[in-house]
Amino acid sequence: MTARSHREKICLACGQKSCCSYYVVHLTGWDVCRITQALQLFPADFVRYYEPQTGGEELFRLSPEGPRYALMLAKGELPEALGAPCVFLLRTNDGQARCGLHDLRPLQCQIYPVFVEGDTVMLINDAPGCVRIWSYGDIDLDAEQARWDRLKAFETEHIAIVREWNRRILQEGATRCFEDFCAYLLNHCRAQEDAA
Ligand code: SF4
Ligand code: SF4
Repeated sequence: MTARSHREKICLACGQKSCCSYYVVHLTGWDVCRITQALQLFPADFVRYYEPQTGGEELFRLSPEGPRYALMLAKGELPEALGAPCVFLLRTNDGQARCGLHDLRPLQCQIYPVFVEGDTVMLINDAPGCVRIWSYGDIDLDAEQARWDRLKAFETEHIAIVREWNRRILQEGATRCFEDFCAYLLNHCRAQEDAA
């Protein structure tokens, strides 16, 4: 485990974790692979899919003519889905929120609230999504850039796997289920891990 940055320590100490309810957390195959392996879970335990309004090559098909879907981290049961807490969000006896995954948390969770556009590292200050105002004094720009590059490398691998899956769906004219897609994703991510 690498040393925690100042930003990570702030989030680790945060007992409110509004970000963990406010946002939809998108997953790469690498996230799914790491979490299933480390916690001996099935994808169905924590992965869901939905049809987003926008998206690109990361979206997967289950049939040639049907919609394309994004992977997301499951949210716990609440009357309304929007704003429901992440399935891994825990509450201590004194009401403090804690991430049950911590170092295993998905890449999107690891990078928030940092965003990189071009060569510029930026901070998302989005009041409903976070309980504090971030400033550049909270982050190490080089370390954040490196973390972002790592996220993008995993996203690129994920897109390559999804692109091949979609090509097969179109070529075979077949309809497949979500469990088939998860199995395909895990097989390919594990193969890439073994080859690395
Ligand atoms: S991003 Fe904001 S709300 Fe989320 S854990 Fe960090 S400080 Fe708390
Ligand atoms: S995995 Fe952890 S950090 Fe990410 S949304 Fe869930 S509880 Fe929050």
